[in-house]
Amino acid sequence: MTDVVATNQTILVVGGGISGMTAAIEAAECGKDVVLLEKNPSVGGRVSQLYKYFPKMCYPSCGMEINLRRLKAQKRLRVITMAEVTKIGGGPGDYTATVKIAPRYVNENCTACGECAAAVETEFDDEFNYGLSKRNAAYLPFNMAYPQRYVLDPRVIGTDDAEKAKAACKYDAIDLDMQEETLQIKAGAVVWATGWKPYDAGKIQPYGYDRFQNVITSVEFERMMDPFGPTGGKLVRPSDGKEAKDVAFIQCAGSRDKNHLAHCSRICCMASLKQSTYLREKFGDDGKATVYYIDIRAIDRFEDFYTKVKADGNVRFVKSKVANITQEKETGNPVLHGVDTEGYERYSNPHDLAVLAIGMEPSVPKGAFPMEVVVNDSGFIEPDEANGGIFAAGSASDALDVNRSVQHATASALRAIQVVNRVAGAEG
Ligand SMILES: Cc1cc2nc3c(=O)[nH]c(=O)nc-3n(C[C@H](O)[C@H](O)[C@H](O)COP(=O)(O)OP(=O)(O)OC[C@H]3O[C@@H](n4cnc5c(N)ncnc54)[C@H](O)[C@@H]3O)c2cc1C
Ligand code: SF4
Ligand code: SF4
Repeated sequence: MTDVVATNQTILVVGGGISGMTAAIEAAECGKDVVLLEKNPSVGGRVSQLYKYFPKMCYPSCGMEINLRRLKAQKRLRVITMAEVTKIGGGPGDYTATVKIAPRYVNENCTACGECAAAVETEFDDEFNYGLSKRNAAYLPFNMAYPQRYVLDPRVIGTDDAEKAKAACKYDAIDLDMQEETLQIKAGAVVWATGWKPYDAGKIQPYGYDRFQNVITSVEFERMMDPFGPTGGKLVRPSDGKEAKDVAFIQCAGSRDKNHLAHCSRICCMASLKQSTYLREKFGDDGKATVYYIDIRAIDRFEDFYTKVKADGNVRFVKSKVANITQEKETGNPVLHGVDTEGYERYSNPHDLAVLAIGMEPSVPKGAFPMEVVVNDSGFIEPDEANGGIFAAGSASDALDVNRSVQHATASALRAIQVVNRVAGAEG
């Protein structure tokens, strides 16, 4: 593992989501040496947890496959998973990153045959499914995971299960003695692509996410549609497994609210419009969506998508910020309360399921960056001269959709290339 050759000509990319992968691939395809660090056991980021992409409604696995092909073809690109940067020192053309690598307990011999998982009994919440299901302690994070290599959860190390996993492996791929490693990686420029995380829905007390089972978040709803997801692709209610044919989408859940996230998360209107189409896909004419919104932010070419959704008689729009949610005792239905601002009528509407269009916040909180970097009030990285040779890419810079993340990441790769080229010019 410790054979990372890096110089001041290397571009270090932190975060292996769609933005980090894009920046790394673009820079490598321009002939630069690149090290891509990802803290999870596989690359792909949150895009790999989506069922379909707006606006084209294609499957993310398709785009991911193309990116993986490009990534694997690049000899100049080194991917290190389970890696977190603890410090970046130096300046443009001369950075040193201290990187901590967590043990996977599974080496390169792994063929992803799955025999270890069959031998192990312990299960944990599956983080890929936002805890909606369990996964084995010996696991592949998801079907298309790259690298295609199992992971042994550190919580079973030292137990019988770890020994059972080792005994089951015919390829000598399980190494229970693996230790955490620390690397120093030199780089001329850094692309920071650590992405976003969903706002903690439990903090929005009036919506009862932590009290009512049939109030879920948009990221959880997305996982439910996946045939390999926690419900096998069924849209069912967590409380009783009943089909959720009448679904409410609550916009600005945690966003545009000074008690939570002050910013507009920019993609959650489009995410709900997309998810409203899932109901017709699942239930045909029986699928009904109601979108409770302040205003719909569908910009540029997304306006066409909005117009198409509005034309569907099974999707209703209620102009209102939902005040609070209660639960019907007998049915388990969430009941949404508020005032419809077109007509100023009070409503108390029961639905099968309520989906919170949850806000996006930076995955690295303000003050937790391992380097000096200028951030805005919401914690997203600003494009600022003071950042030197460190450039944000994608949703580390703002709440962005995939298209805009990819464009932004490509621009960041270019800025990073300019920095290392200047260094090479000055030295040569
Ligand atoms: C409900 C919902 C639905 C959506 N649907 C769509 C859609 O249909 N179409 C669309 O265009 N967009 C959609 N989006 C937006 C889309 O998810 C983002 O545009 C995309 O995830 C941005 O990619 P990214 O690489 O910038 O960030 P991420 O996907 O968050 O990737 C960041 C990566 O960095 C890693 N990382 C984090 N911290 C560290 C660290 N310290 N060190 C190393 N690695 C780290 C993470 O593990 C992750 O792999 C949706 C968003 C939501 C909330
Ligand atoms: S660790 Fe061994 S048993 Fe487990 S998937 Fe890999 S090769 Fe198969
Ligand atoms: S994108 Fe829509 S739902 Fe999301 S915060 Fe902005 S206005 Fe609210």
